[in-house]
Formats: sequence, C-alpha cells, structure tokens
Amino acid sequence: MKIAIIGTGYVGLTTGVCLASLGHKVICVDKIENKIQQLKRGISPIYEPNVSQFLKKYKKNINFTKDLADAVLKSEVIFVAVGTPSKKDKSIDLSYVKQAIKEIAKQLNAYKIIVNKSTVPVGTGDWVKKEIKKYYKGNFSIVSNPEFLKEGSAIKDFLKPDRIIIGAEDKKSQQIMLNLYSKIDAPKIVTDIKSAELIKYAANAFLATKISFINEIANICDKLNADIKKVAQGIGYDKRIGKHFLNAGIGYGGSCFPKDIDGLISISSKHKYTFKLLNAVVEVNKQQQEEFIKKINSILKKIKGKTVCIWGLAFKPNTDDIRKSPAIKIINRLVKMGYKIQVYDPKAMENTKKAILQKNVKYCKNPYEAAKNADILALVTDWPEFSKIDMKKIKKIMRNYYLIDGRNQFNPKKMKKLGFYYKGIGRQ
Ligand code: NAD
Repeated sequence: MKIAIIGTGYVGLTTGVCLASLGHKVICVDKIENKIQQLKRGISPIYEPNVSQFLKKYKKNINFTKDLADAVLKSEVIFVAVGTPSKKDKSIDLSYVKQAIKEIAKQLNAYKIIVNKSTVPVGTGDWVKKEIKKYYKGNFSIVSNPEFLKEGSAIKDFLKPDRIIIGAEDKKSQQIMLNLYSKIDAPKIVTDIKSAELIKYAANAFLATKISFINEIANICDKLNADIKKVAQGIGYDKRIGKHFLNAGIGYGGSCFPKDIDGLISISSKHKYTFKLLNAVVEVNKQQQEEFIKKINSILKKIKGKTVCIWGLAFKPNTDDIRKSPAIKIINRLVKMGYKIQVYDPKAMENTKKAILQKNVKYCKNPYEAAKNADILALVTDWPEFSKIDMKKIKKIMRNYYLIDGRNQFNPKKMKKLGFYYKGIGRQ
C-alpha cells in the first residue's frame, strides 16, 4: 500500500520503517528540515535500537519529505503521528494534530483513510471528520489506531505487538487496515473510534497505577525491613496480577505516562467525573521522586559542594529520550541545594545538555569519570551496562561510598560486601 506518515518522531519513524519492512511504500513527512535531511542521508535523528539498520535495509520502500501535500496526494492511507503534549492546565494540546489535519484536508482529492496514531482525547475522531468535511466533499474514512510501542524496543513492539487496535466506522476502512497489518501476527481488535481512543489512555493509566502501587508497597518494605523484589516476585506469579511492571523505583516519567494520565484525568473531569484513583497515582509518583531526593539529602546533609554522581539521564534504558525523565527533575533540585553533580548516560548526554544549563553539572565521558571523587552514587536509569561495571574500581575512586540505587539494579549484599553503604527502593 502507499502510505504517508505525518510526524517523524519516535512513533512516526518507527511506524515508517516497520511498514516499509512489511513491503508498503512509505513517505514520512516532518516539518523539521534538519530531520528530513538527516533521514535522507540514512541517519536516524533519534536513538532507538535497530532503526538505523531498518533505514538502510528498507530504503527502497521509504522516502522522506517536508512536503505534506505531495505525500498526501501520493498515498491511500495517511497516518497522523504528531506530538500531543500536555497544556499548562494538564489537558491535551491538540494544536499539532489540528494543524496536520487541516493541511491533509486541503489536499484530499480521492477516497483516502486518515488514521490517527497519536494519542488523542476521546472524541477527536469526530472532530477530525467534521474538520475534513469543511474542505473536502468526497468520501473518506477516519480510523483510530493507537500505538503501544515502548521506546527502547519500539521496532520489536511494533512488529510483534500484544494486539492491534483498529477503531473504524465502516467496513471498507476496517478491511483496508486489516490488510495493511496482515503480515503482523497479533490479535486485531476492531472497535468503534471512541473505544479505540479510550483503550490507549486506559492501558497507560493501568500501567502507571501498577507502578505507583508497587512503589507504595516498596515504601512499606522500607519501613518493615522487607524486600520489595521478593514481594513483587511473590505476587507476580499470580496470573491475575502478572510479573510485568512490578519494578519499584523512582517513579514513571517519559513523554507518555505523565501526559496521558493527566490527559485521562482531564478528559474525565470535562465529563464531570473525578478519577480519584488516577489523582492518587500521580501524587504517589511525585512523592517517589521526592523520597529519592530526601534519601540523598539525609546523607549529604545539604552540605554545599558535596558531589553526587548520577548514572542515567534517559527516562528509561535504551533510549536518548529525556522528556519528563525523573533524572532531570532530580538534578535540577540537587543543583539548587548546592551540590556538585557529575552525570553519565550512554545515549542521552546531548539531549540533557540542551535541557539543563546548570554550571554545577559536569558531563562525563564514562561512568568511572562520573563517579570520581563523588560522595554519593545515585543510579537513576537502569541501563544494562551499569550492572556490568567494576564496582570494586568504582569504590576506589569515590570519596565516600554511598550507593543509592533508584532502580534496585544492584545486589545489596554484594554491594555491602564491597564496602558500600547501600540503599535501594524497598530493599536494604
Ligand atoms: P515526537 O515529538 O517524537 O514526534 C512528533 C513529530 O511530529 C516531530 O518530529 C514534529 O516535528 C512532527 N510534526 C508536528 N507537527 C507536524 C506537522 N504539521 N507536519 C509534519 N510534522 C509534524 O512524538 P512521539 O513521541 O513520536 O509521539 C507521537 C504521538 O504518539 C503522541 O501522541 C504520543 O503520545 C504517541 N505515542 C508515543 C509513544 C512513545 O513512546 N513516544 C508511544 C505510543 C504513543
């Protein structure tokens, strides 16, 4: 099929290379000139495992352009994958979607399907239909096809998803969408548009609830001297609960969970419903990051000039994305308290340099340089490479031996044996 994708970010680019790998002819559109130029040269503007390899391997099936009009004219199916950030009042900012839809509508000249892949408030499909009708009097279909990929494993998630959701109102568009994904072996759930839009928010809200729940159990473990890893394992074997998403830590971040949870709270309140549970989920998440800062402060006693080493800046491993990363908030707070900060992340250093313009933050070439002469080592993102580091060597180069493990990545017994004062989240 001939496909246009509007917005070439984490979701749009992944969708583009994956659909190209399935044999479709794809045109990816973005309004940022630099992104398009890089992509035309085969360079991925984001770090996401395997995207560069896919760009090379399937280059015959994929083109990049700034020209949205031309891409729409040449395509049968048009995906919208632009950003939907939070507004100041925490409702969803649909300005990018609105702009993209207007531009698409102006170009329609034959039957085409407009697919919303961005996460959008329930009811956006209806709005899109009305908006397009202002500009185009012919036939077209609107589909909601929310995306569930995780940054860090985006390609794998796209090609081997747990399910594909197709919110469509007519048989023709349902069938075309099922054909488009026919090579992907996954349950395909066809629904009305509103249910599809809500499925995305409900899924993220449930996952965030699981995180806040296990974080509260971890806080209880801290008080009781119990081990959260064992507790999580013990409940995870229950099939009704499941083993995934039971890792206690410093709370969720990223470009999706915080905005989507706020988004669902805002959608609910617009419909005069108070989503009490989700308000608590957000509160617990905030508290979790505060507790981490408190742990550091209780050791360093706000003594100016003490050095904190931060391992990990990305909101999760295997990505360079720092949007709403707990690391950014934590660093900004620690700098304000007068500490010196030494940071290292395998992929997110450049993005962080643009986001944190603090004098007291030193960007280090490797984890060892970041730990040198530090008073505390704080693990913020659980990159697998951090668990392979020679911690004996780290201990030798630190000034004081406090290890605050925000992701429970290290073995407490081993670390204590090496001479570290170890503190995890819900495990001693
Ligand atoms: P992103 O910010 O990485 O990418 C959006 C891209 O759209 C940018 O490159 C921007 O320049 C481009 N753009 C905006 N308006 C445009 C226009 N009118 N024409 C052409 N290009 C335009 O965003 P993302 O992380 O890929 O997220 C996109 C959507 O997918 C959001 O709604 C998000 O909630 C949802 N989503 C994201 C993820 C994720 O892990 N990032 C997962 C599932 C769903």
